[in-house]
Amino acid sequence: MFDSIALLLAALVSADAHPDLIIENVTVLEVESGEKLPSRNVAITDGSIISVSSEPVESGENSLVIDGQGKFLIPGLWDTHVHSVTNWSWHAPLFLAHGVTSVRNMHTSETEGYAIIREIKKQAARGEAPRMIANGFIVGGAEDPWDGVLEVVTAEDARKAVEMHRQNGMDFIKVYEGISPEAYRALMEMAEEAALPVDGHLPGRIRTQEAVMLGQRTIEHGIAFALGCSDPNKAEALQASYERPALAGLPGLIEFMLMLRAYDEARVEEDCVALARLMSDHGTASVPTIINSLTADAELSMATPGQREALPSSLYAQWSEMAASPFSEAVAKARGPVMSPIRSEIATLKEAGVTILAGTDLGNPFIAPGVSLLRELELLVEAGLSNREALEAATTAPAKVFKLEGLGCIVAGCKADLVLLEADPLESISNVRRISSVVIAGHYHSKSDLDRDVLQALDAEDR
Ligand SMILES: [Zn+2]
Repeated sequence: MFDSIALLLAALVSADAHPDLIIENVTVLEVESGEKLPSRNVAITDGSIISVSSEPVESGENSLVIDGQGKFLIPGLWDTHVHSVTNWSWHAPLFLAHGVTSVRNMHTSETEGYAIIREIKKQAARGEAPRMIANGFIVGGAEDPWDGVLEVVTAEDARKAVEMHRQNGMDFIKVYEGISPEAYRALMEMAEEAALPVDGHLPGRIRTQEAVMLGQRTIEHGIAFALGCSDPNKAEALQASYERPALAGLPGLIEFMLMLRAYDEARVEEDCVALARLMSDHGTASVPTIINSLTADAELSMATPGQREALPSSLYAQWSEMAASPFSEAVAKARGPVMSPIRSEIATLKEAGVTILAGTDLGNPFIAPGVSLLRELELLVEAGLSNREALEAATTAPAKVFKLEGLGCIVAGCKADLVLLEADPLESISNVRRISSVVIAGHYHSKSDLDRDVLQALDAEDR
């Protein structure tokens, strides 16, 4: 009885209450249509948008009112490929400071990974950190070089892996190159029954086309696409013919770079067009992680605008030293030109209507949190997307692919994850760097608060 009275009172109070947060007189960008809605008032209560209108919104004593005059409001951004569980304490403030309000974490080697991920999700619900969808541990094989990989060889192993993800409430499964074809095929069936999407790398010994037809939801990195539409004999011959740098150390990495270059050069255009059409038909999304491909040129990566400010100084110094070494120069030379094959891949994907997602592969050397996602948006534009399409790849598209209703939108009923910009990103994508404030789960963070949190977190990392 008492409970129901309390509930009734709560309902009456909230029906009567003024919004927690009002952003006044702002231009709202509709990412899908590219429309700009001027002079809107956006009202937010309990973490959700309750109205977007040209009519004035009445504020109360406890409402925070933000002047949006001359500013542009976009949905919070996604980095759809990160490895951040281990470094969450400094990655999280950097994400928020760069407008990244959601991430998809793609593997953790932490033994306590599941518990950490659950804790991270609670922080997001309180509006303190980005939202995270996560997989826990990679499903792969003995040859996969990472810690914490689940080695999956038989159908029974696959069943156990699916069960482990389900029991721990993970959002999806990430497959990796070492999983056996038998286990992969079994896993795809069992994951579907358990309603767990499967994302990830292309399993070795499985053709890209088969992974697409079996329903893998995303294909990560450009190489998976190239593997599906290059002539393997030509690629092998090319790789053998390349000049090797006269340099000791990590021959495996040099060979890997030569392999990537060979597959880029051995592409058969009509096969790539057919593969892109197949992906489009099956709703398979591509996560090209362009910025990660470009780390083959480490010196260039370290020169990314905003890089230094987004790294603990100890790590910045360490990576700068690595980047300046003759070995890094040899890697860049072995890899050859990166942007022109990426351009042709993006053009083919775009022409076929394949969904492209913005992701960075943060966690790898030379990639800094948050700022790398903004750079990825610029690179997607350099690779051939329009400014609007690049924004889509980090807002509406991830929300759709991951089936997360209420994210990536600015209408009544959507979650209040928002970025307020000083300038219009549809005019120049680099305007995503001009952040005025960020809202996550209805909580307002001014730029100065975000910058202070970043400095504190980087300082703590250096100590
Ligand atoms: Zn990754």
